[in-house]
Amino acid sequence: MSADLDVAVVGAGIAGLAAAHRLRAQGRSVHVFEAADHIGGRMTSLRRDGYLMDTGAEMIGSSGYPATWRLIRDLGLSDEEIPLIGAGLAVWREGRAHQHVGDPRGLLVGAGLSAGARLELAKLLGGTAIRRRAYDPDSPESTPQGSRTVAEVVHGDLHDYLFQPLTGGFYGWDTERASAGPLLSHMLAVGATKTFRTYRDGMDTVARALAAQGEVSTGVPIREVVTTGSGARLVVDHTPLTARTVVLAVPAPVAACLHPAAPEFVHRCEFRPMLKVICQLDRPLDGFGPAFGLAVPAVENPVLAGIVCDERKHVGRVPDGLGLATLVAGQEVVTDLLDESDDEISRTLIAHAEQYLPGLAHALRGTVVVRFRHGLPMPTAWALAARAEFVKRAPSAVEYAGDWYTLRPCSEAAIRSAELVAARLSTSEIPAGARG
Ligand SMILES: Cc1cc2nc3c(=O)[nH]c(=O)nc-3n(C[C@H](O)[C@H](O)[C@H](O)COP(=O)(O)OP(=O)(O)OC[C@H]3O[C@@H](n4cnc5c(N)ncnc54)[C@H](O)[C@@H]3O)c2cc1C
Repeated sequence: MSADLDVAVVGAGIAGLAAAHRLRAQGRSVHVFEAADHIGGRMTSLRRDGYLMDTGAEMIGSSGYPATWRLIRDLGLSDEEIPLIGAGLAVWREGRAHQHVGDPRGLLVGAGLSAGARLELAKLLGGTAIRRRAYDPDSPESTPQGSRTVAEVVHGDLHDYLFQPLTGGFYGWDTERASAGPLLSHMLAVGATKTFRTYRDGMDTVARALAAQGEVSTGVPIREVVTTGSGARLVVDHTPLTARTVVLAVPAPVAACLHPAAPEFVHRCEFRPMLKVICQLDRPLDGFGPAFGLAVPAVENPVLAGIVCDERKHVGRVPDGLGLATLVAGQEVVTDLLDESDDEISRTLIAHAEQYLPGLAHALRGTVVVRFRHGLPMPTAWALAARAEFVKRAPSAVEYAGDWYTLRPCSEAAIRSAELVAARLSTSEIPAGARG
């Protein structure tokens, strides 16, 4: 009996949409199912009162994002549509902001670090760069750092005022448990923070272009996926459908729930929650100098991990003369705050942000609270240990895509996973006997 569908992709985030694009290019017929009422997943943008608000991801790298740039070129987007942010990042230390974080100039001017910490950083980055080929973002399990955690690799000042604020604030990681190897591979690939770019028309630009290419059903949650003798069966809302191939392009913990027979690696991938409050302001605010973003170390403030002044990313993001600030919750409080009301979350983060962005409460016109129970993947030693087996497995009727595929906390990993899954399916006939 022939299957109802050729390929069913579960999840219309950037990984699922990019996988659909790659598989269609191979001649497959693809239908994407999305549980939410909109596409984009963690790369969604909201447009309200003239403000353009990125609810999840905020930027991409000029370098270190090769799969993303291949897709951008495929879609015919121009560089003007992905402008350079230009401004840098700052870190808060003892009452003031220090500029040039994550930038070579920071090594000279300090960027909030002591001379000893800067020397330690220069040695670490130099040593990593010399062994660049061993730090391949596609193979996070094979770096020279093995299973050492971030907190085991960097200490004191360097940990407290650079690695913890960057990984805690931007990825939600716990440095005592996150592996250092994948982080160093990512840092080496991406380079200086001043080279970051953003999509002029919102971080959902690529997702919108991809969704327009083929069949995407929104508001349709998939409840279960099982392999059969000739493919897979999925329960679409409450109706069973069969497909030759299913690509589960959802966060790993969701994939493991939908398909309990998933490989061990899928079960071991851990995600960290993230919580943001986006503040629409009646004027731009100034509190941390020319940087567009401020990282707040947990040793300075465990409640607020960072602030982004979105109107500094490029012109046109907010109506003339107005401002937009995004507040990110600290990892120590995020799990407790997730279940609080929007009002309580906004009140808490705004009260803590006032010292870095004076006048915030006064300038407020509205807030948007964004909760991600599965915010970003965190590479633990336990997950890394199962990855080689995952990569070696034979192609199956149930395949996977998502940023967690290479345990890299960024949209590049999601888009790269789409290329990897398409390559797996192009070189294989879907096996007659179902595997997990
Ligand atoms: C706060 C935050 C900031 C970030 N900042 C950056 C950044 O600046 N730069 C960067 O490169 N990356 C950033 N990222 C990471 C980036 O957003 C993700 O890596 C990327 O969007 C992941 O895409 P994905 O398709 O793998 O997953 P998702 O975007 O999570 O897509 C999965 C989709 O599956 C859907 N789904 C779930 N369950 C089901 C079901 N049962 N049936 C059907 N559909 C289902 C979901 O609704 C979702 O749309 C950030 C992430 C967060 C949370």
